[in-house]
Amino acid sequence: MEFLAKCPKCDAGLPVPALNAPSSITCGGCGCDIPLVVSDALREDRAVDQCPVCSGGDFYIRKDFDPKIGLSVVIVGALISAAFYWYGRDLIAYSILGFATLIDLAIYGRLKDLTVCYRCRSEFRGAFEHKAVAFDLHTADVLEMEYERRIGRR
Ligand SMILES: [Zn+2]
Ligand SMILES: [Zn+2]
Repeated sequence: MEFLAKCPKCDAGLPVPALNAPSSITCGGCGCDIPLVVSDALREDRAVDQCPVCSGGDFYIRKDFDPKIGLSVVIVGALISAAFYWYGRDLIAYSILGFATLIDLAIYGRLKDLTVCYRCRSEFRGAFEHKAVAFDLHTADVLEMEYERRIGRR
């Protein structure tokens, strides 16, 4: 698997292959050293049991979604349909808009799961089974606060 280590200081994301992960990486954003503790399960692409950045054990799942792609499909669809609407072709306008929404849904359905660390928001991609729970705002609040206090951001 590969994970995106989030710098505790500046939130820059640094992609790291778990298999050959070094014991520490240097942040390209602020230049600080980020120590990594990569568990065996992580190296072998079995599961995410412990976060290599903050050593937390709480994760949630979200879709690996690039909002830019989905949004651009909708915008282009809306623009084309607006043009048809302008010329009084309502039916064509609506069907194009509907089509753009369908493409969006198709993109969304094919997305892979992504496991995210509640505390430092590092992201984990791989063939392993994503067993984490869905995002919970309350848990996120509590854990993020705890983490930020620990690394001295608050
Ligand atoms: Zn940094
Ligand atoms: Zn973490």
